Formats: sequence, C-alpha cells, structure tokens
Amino acid sequence: MKIGFIGLGNMGNPMAANLAKAGHDVVGFDMADVSVPGVTMANSGAEAATGADIVVTMLPNGQILRAVAGEIIPAMSAGSVWIDCSTVDVDSARAVADQAKDAGVMAVDAPVSGGIGGAAAGTLTFMAGGSDAAFEKAAPLFEIMGQKAVHCGESGAGQAAKICNNMILGVTMIATCEAFALADKLGLDRQKMFDVVSTSSGYSWTMNAYCPAPGVGPSSPADNDYQPGFAAELMLKDLRLSQQAAESSDADTPMGQVATALYEQFVESENGLGKDFSAMLPRFEQRGRS
Ligand code: NAD
Repeated sequence: MKIGFIGLGNMGNPMAANLAKAGHDVVGFDMADVSVPGVTMANSGAEAATGADIVVTMLPNGQILRAVAGEIIPAMSAGSVWIDCSTVDVDSARAVADQAKDAGVMAVDAPVSGGIGGAAAGTLTFMAGGSDAAFEKAAPLFEIMGQKAVHCGESGAGQAAKICNNMILGVTMIATCEAFALADKLGLDRQKMFDVVSTSSGYSWTMNAYCPAPGVGPSSPADNDYQPGFAAELMLKDLRLSQQAAESSDADTPMGQVATALYEQFVESENGLGKDFSAMLPRFEQRGRS
C-alpha cells in the first residue's frame, strides 16, 4: 500500500518506520528536518498525501490537526482512508472527520496508548472512532503498529475513550501517591502498604503495575529517578482535554477537575516538568496539610 505519514516525532517516527519495515511504500512529512528508516521524505503534507491509499497523522494537538486537515484532505483521493493517531480534543476530531467525509475520504480517529516504547515495538493499543468500513481498511495498519485495536464507535469515539481512560489514570495516580504519603506519616512500611493494597480493594494499575514508590512493586519510572515513562506534562495535556470535553458535554467531573489543577500546579510551578507523572509521590511526601 502507498501510505502518507505526517508528524514524525517521538511517536510518529517509529510508527512510520514499522510500516516501511512491513513492506509498505511510506512517504513522510514533518515540519522539522527528520529522517525515518525506509521512509521517503516529501516537501509538504499535501505531497505526502497525494496518491496515498492511507494517510496517517501523529500531531501534537487539535489546532495543528485542523491546519493539517486543510492541507491534506484536498490532496487525498476519494475512497482513501485517513487515520489520525494524535491525541486531540473530541470536537476537533469530529470537525476534521466531517471535513474528510465531505471530500469522500474515510476518517478514523485512533489515538494510542503504549507510549514511545510501544510505538517502537509495534505494540500500541489503538482506540478507534469512525465507520465500520473505515475501521476495516485501517485494521491492517493497526496490526503492524500495535497489538490491539478497539473500534469504539463513530468519529470522536476513539478520542473519547482515550481521555476517559487517562482521566481515570490521572485521578488514580494522585490517589495512590497521596495514600503512600499518608502511610509514610502513619509509620507504615511502603512494602507492607504495597503488599496489602495490591491484593485488596484499593488495587489499581498505578499501584500494581506502575508503583510510584521506588524499590516497591514491579520496575517502574520511580526506580529510575522518575525519568519518564509518561511525562507529567503529557498527563496534564490529557487531563485538560478531559475537562474541555466535560465542559462541552456538560458532564460533572469533580475528580478530573482536581487532578487537572494538581498536575497543572506540579508541571507549571513545582518542577514537575520533564518528570514522570508518578513523581506526584515525592511531591506529596514533602508537603503537610497546609
Ligand atoms: P512530538 O512533538 O514528538 O511529535 C509531533 C511532530 O509533529 C513533531 O515532529 C512536529 O515537528 C510535527 N509537526 C507539528 N506540526 C506539524 C505540521 N503542521 N506538519 C507536519 N508536522 C508537524 O509528539 P509525540 O510524542 O510524537 O506525540 C504525538 C501525539 O501522540 C500527541 O498528540 C501525543 O499526545 C500523543 N501521544 C504521545 C505519547 C508519548 O508517550 N509521547 C503517548 C500517547 C499519545
């Protein structure tokens, strides 16, 4: 297949490389001067999209996505497929999908989880929104770039699933970290805390698989001085998207709101920038009640 790939950053670069490695003819474009093994570089997004059976985008945000949509949709052939893997707001995902539909292009919003490691290993999980026909055409590419793809519903459903999941993740990480900090103050050993909670009703992915306490539980960014992993600023981005979606759909999300405010404070005024999102534990550790 002829594939156009736009946005070759931390995630897009290895994803495009995996498509080329699988034997597809991949033409890429990025604003920055980048190269990707096996990928031919174009001079613009429109050039990369011209003549492609499938175009994949992996961009920073909804505003950039809307701008790129304006460039590539007119260049794409009717009946071709556009898979957007960026994490963006639901409204932007729906707006560009409508634009694509008007041009006869089948759009799939397919944000991912799995991070840079998953992108390199081809083990991402895709959460997809779009028609059945569009999802079917995108599926072979999901198989190369990932290990699982869930068709969540119509356009925007992939983004909705992603931000709901990540809102739970942010809230749960904070709850796990504040509980560890409380346990410390109560003189409870962290390993004992883990042994109990990880097999009791307080268990969660953040406790059991990504424990924020160094030296406790399976290996995690906490064991590597909180190098990301999943950076706190990316968590903040997703939490903000959840609150934007909650506002536009009139959903009451008080825990999501508090988690957003805490990560905002952490990233913007407490040296959280560049640290893993589990570094909330040392943050709580240093604080008292006031
Ligand atoms: P990144 O900033 O490394 O890559 C984005 C790329 O897009 C950059 O190379 C940039 O030059 C390019 N770009 C920007 N504007 C462009 C334009 N108009 N035309 C062409 N290229 C343009 O970001 P990333 O880490 O690769 O993340 C990409 C997306 O994936 C984001 O939406 C992010 O939220 C999401 N995501 C990231 C991770 C992660 O761990 N990094 C995990 C899951 C999802």
